[in-house]
Amino acid sequence: MAGIVAIAFFAGLMAGSFVSAVAYRVPRGMSIAGPRSQCPACGAQIAAYDNVPLFSWIVLQGRARCCGAKISWLYPLTELTVALLWAATVLVYRHDAAEAVVGLVFVSVLAAVTLTDLEQRIIPNKILLTGAILCLAIAVPFDTGSLAGRAAAAVGAGGLLFLVVLAYPKGMGMGDVKLTATMGLFLGSAVAPALLLALLAGSTVGLVLIARYGQRARKMAIPFGPFLALGGVVGLLAGNALLDLYLG
Ligand SMILES: [Zn+2]
Repeated sequence: MAGIVAIAFFAGLMAGSFVSAVAYRVPRGMSIAGPRSQCPACGAQIAAYDNVPLFSWIVLQGRARCCGAKISWLYPLTELTVALLWAATVLVYRHDAAEAVVGLVFVSVLAAVTLTDLEQRIIPNKILLTGAILCLAIAVPFDTGSLAGRAAAAVGAGGLLFLVVLAYPKGMGMGDVKLTATMGLFLGSAVAPALLLALLAGSTVGLVLIARYGQRARKMAIPFGPFLALGGVVGLLAGNALLDLYLG
């Protein structure tokens, strides 16, 4: 078991590197397939040995070898986070290979949209749609019966957030609604505790900011996507346990 979790961790480091590239390229309309990684500061091609997830950033102390430009700590943090999430997902879903793979796709999608929402305040349709298609393509052949539940969770959770957005248009948008619907597809009924947690965490942070900054806090547009992603991760790793706890 430890071996599989370790493999998931190292594969997750590479997945995290891919997630960073997707989050950087998709909102800018760049191709994911190529060209190879370039320094965003000076355009020099980055050598493979300087592009090793996590380790290169540590070795280079957060600076590009070509021109010395600072490399955001968000990149190694993303790689490490995705690696830990991949390891946790494999551990939790060790008895269900198909669900494990669906979970790996899910946490990768959540990491990518967290980055795009933090950096650019957008949740690209391309990333959500790719995730949704992969989810159905992997999950449905193994468990056709889950399709109805997944579809219902997508419509229910997405619809609920749509009503919230109508009531509080500030701070949330259609990207959040589409992300919530995608989460329903991945999580099924476990999307309920995920959404609840996201709303709780989001409003707690909102209240703290209002307590601290008063009226100025109302003008801070805090993206809601990262809160949804946090709820999604908890829903994936502990959602069914939470549902059992609640229903029991
Ligand atoms: Zn450079």
